[in-house]
Amino acid sequence: KYVQSCLEWCGFDEYLTPEEIKHRNFVRKTLEEEAAPKMDKYIHSTEFPFELVDVIKKLKINGTINKGYGSAELSPMMMAAAYVELFRVDASLATFFLVHNSLGIDALYLTASKKQLDEIMPKAMTLEKILCFGLTEKDYGSDATSLETTVTKTKGGYILNGNKRWIGNATHADYVVCWAQGASKKGIEGFIVDLKSKGVTTEKIEGKMSLRAVQNCNIFFDSVFVPESCRLEKTENFVTGAGKVLKHSRVNVCWAAVGIAVGAYDSCLKYVSNRKQFGKTISSFQLSQEKIGRMMGNINGMIHYAARITQLYYDGKATMGQIALCKAWCTLRGREVVALARELCGGNGIILENGVMKHFIDMEAIYTYEGSYDINILVAARELTGKAAFK
Ligand code: FAD
Repeated sequence: KYVQSCLEWCGFDEYLTPEEIKHRNFVRKTLEEEAAPKMDKYIHSTEFPFELVDVIKKLKINGTINKGYGSAELSPMMMAAAYVELFRVDASLATFFLVHNSLGIDALYLTASKKQLDEIMPKAMTLEKILCFGLTEKDYGSDATSLETTVTKTKGGYILNGNKRWIGNATHADYVVCWAQGASKKGIEGFIVDLKSKGVTTEKIEGKMSLRAVQNCNIFFDSVFVPESCRLEKTENFVTGAGKVLKHSRVNVCWAAVGIAVGAYDSCLKYVSNRKQFGKTISSFQLSQEKIGRMMGNINGMIHYAARITQLYYDGKATMGQIALCKAWCTLRGREVVALARELCGGNGIILENGVMKHFIDMEAIYTYEGSYDINILVAARELTGKAAFK
């Protein structure tokens, strides 16, 4: 007998009401039965599992904590539980949803006018229209405030020129929340750009060995007309626009790291509890138990740190630096968890079907997306020391 689900052992359920535990169990069962068995073929082929979008629709988790337009209106911790379940099953599928929900829907709630929400939200909530988020460019990743995509004013709107790189969902999304140097020259502003507009082209990034089934893309904007009504009015510069969205979404990325770590731990424990060497199960050796304890210590720390940051954020009390540090720390610790899980499974640990290796490779992307470990820790240290190590 061994602890099969480390989430419960860590006391995660204490953050949920009895109704939320029921909802979470439904999300878990549905994903385990209907999504998990289908993912490996998409990881092999690197195609996006469109057939599983209907499974996500069933989960009643869309819209996060936002109000109206058919949102599930979850509590912050129920939303966290849903992200954990998604990432535990498959980080590619989960990232598709995270981008649409956290960097798409939530971003618009933070920055769009009521009129813009009225137009986009009803179909975004039902996943009839898919959203993506375009900040990173070919030559500007960490140095996002220097990006070179621009808008210039024209009659009735703007002309958009430039490129975006790594954009999740872009080949099949309907709209991109796009960040560009604004026409007023005050800083980076946001726009909702219809990806079917004349002058927009997208291409899938090939050769990706992490998050293999989510489509990350280059987008090119060649003199694209963007109507005035598509400018996100509340975005005047990086801090009030993209920075605000990242502050919000990094809270969710902490839960992404938890989900992947939990997935790796659970698969690993199953394996080491059955696999025998020298006449004994791998889980009975002292050296294995040290690794199992270390994994569990990390996961406990990640869960309760992320929970505290989530509570502080939704109480309006978390700073950018506090959230950045939590994202950096959770992905750092998560990286150790997946490496230990992989190691404990020996040679079989590198085979996809064993269930641990995909978590190992996917944690690499989480460690870098929404700001690398270095940048997030420097954001935190800037607050701590009062000195900026980068601009
Ligand atoms: P670089 O900025 O080139 O950095 C390379 C290395 O140098 C990193 O280790 C970094 O930490 C380090 N470094 C850079 N500057 C400094 C410094 N000043 N001090 C110390 N170290 C430094 N972006 C979007 O806009 N939308 C998306 O949907 C999206 N999805 C993504 C999905 C995946 C799978 C990946 C990998 C990325 C995605 N991104 C997306 C982009 C992501 O946010 C960037 O990759 C990230 O911000 C890092 O930028 P970069 O890859 O250009 O690395």
